[in-house]
Amino acid sequence: MLPGTGDAPPGPAAGKHQPDITRKSPLLLLGRALRLHCPNCGGGSLFTGFLDVKERCPRCGILLDRGENDYFLGAYMINLVAVEILLATVFIVILIATWPDPPWDAFQYGGIALSVLGAVVCYPFAKTTWLAFDLMFRPTKREDFITRDK
Ligand SMILES: [Zn+2]
Repeated sequence: MLPGTGDAPPGPAAGKHQPDITRKSPLLLLGRALRLHCPNCGGGSLFTGFLDVKERCPRCGILLDRGENDYFLGAYMINLVAVEILLATVFIVILIATWPDPPWDAFQYGGIALSVLGAVVCYPFAKTTWLAFDLMFRPTKREDFITRDK
């Protein structure tokens, strides 16, 4: 295994002995996050339900909530931006396609429905993407693999 590649499987004991704390490239972190995988190791199954994330990655053992109050507030911000981009894109495409007679009523009611649906669908991606951004600016440390008292 080459240090820094991050793609070699750490094995089941990785979280117990030597956690992988090598710095990963931003593209690797974001690519894994957008597939709903752990940005640190690439392992899957990070969610207990559709919206709830597990305490730690089942593959590498990194704590998915990195120990700050309101840690996932950044995920809410990413979710908001993603839904706004989605709404703007759909609006512009439909506006151009139907010009000069755009369906204003459909924009009004469809926009509400798309906002709610988009917020729910994008939320899991926002959580893993937030973790990826956090790992870009605050790379993993050994403390990220140790259970904290709450
Ligand atoms: Zn992991």
